[in-house]
Amino acid sequence: MHAAAFAAAGWPGTYEARRVAPQDLPAAIADLRAPDVLGANLSLPHKEAALALLDGLSPAARAIGAVNTVVHREGRLLGDNTDAPGLLAALDGAGAPAGGLSVVLGAGGAARAAVYALRSRGQEVVVVNRTPGRAAALTRDLGGQALSAAEVPWARVGLLVNASSAGLGDPQASPLTPLPALAAGALVYDMVYKPTETRLMREARAAGVRAENGLGMLAHQARLAFTAWTGAQVPAAVFLVALAGGVQVPPRL
Ligand code: NAP
Repeated sequence: MHAAAFAAAGWPGTYEARRVAPQDLPAAIADLRAPDVLGANLSLPHKEAALALLDGLSPAARAIGAVNTVVHREGRLLGDNTDAPGLLAALDGAGAPAGGLSVVLGAGGAARAAVYALRSRGQEVVVVNRTPGRAAALTRDLGGQALSAAEVPWARVGLLVNASSAGLGDPQASPLTPLPALAAGALVYDMVYKPTETRLMREARAAGVRAENGLGMLAHQARLAFTAWTGAQVPAAVFLVALAGGVQVPPRL
């Protein structure tokens, strides 16, 4: 995606993948201070551990407690979180309903970004997680209500976001079985994008409910990180087309 964005922006940059063991994170972060480095993305399990290693944090990264984007600017390393606005952009692209109750499944870093993002829009949010104590801790930090699946008033739910890793790499796994009946016009947004159709999405579509995978969010969080590093605005379509080289792209955006 970023190679395509560099080409589209006319920048001579490169984006490289690095596998970093947890004990090597401080050294890997220190490497980002090299003068020719614009920044980096962080993936599991480094998004939380990086907070203490950076020189500053955006309000979103601080509130969420997770950094997915590091920006190197004039010798300082700034931590940001583009998962939150990336999700909102993807939800807009997918035509998510504005009102109603939103349910977020999961309580890890992605769920924290989702709750922060939805709450920043004034949405009423419920968090459901396999380990209830983690959902309670999340809502204490970020607002919303932690409930068990049995307690959720599903008929009011216009947006169901899977921010758990259930379904990742496993087309038979689902974070929510059976899928309850949702409000009319509801959207199921699964942050998982491998496989491109998860069991949750399959069951939603079989019940006549719209469902999208996480490719839109992946593209938008990348687009926002690219702008933070370079200042260049590259259309989401460039990132989506690059992604389509390996995986199927959702119809809108
Ligand atoms: P994480 O911090 O490891 O959290 C994982 C969450 O999933 C935890 O709440 C965990 O519950 C729950 N979980 C794991 N296995 C489960 C299962 N079998 N049934 C029910 N719940 C289960 O991971 P993360 O960073 O938040 O990422 C979560 C997912 O979002 C991953 O699939 C990741 O790829 C995806 N993601 C996508 C994008 C995108 O751009 N599309 C961006 C960020 C993340 P417990 O608390 O009980 O352990």
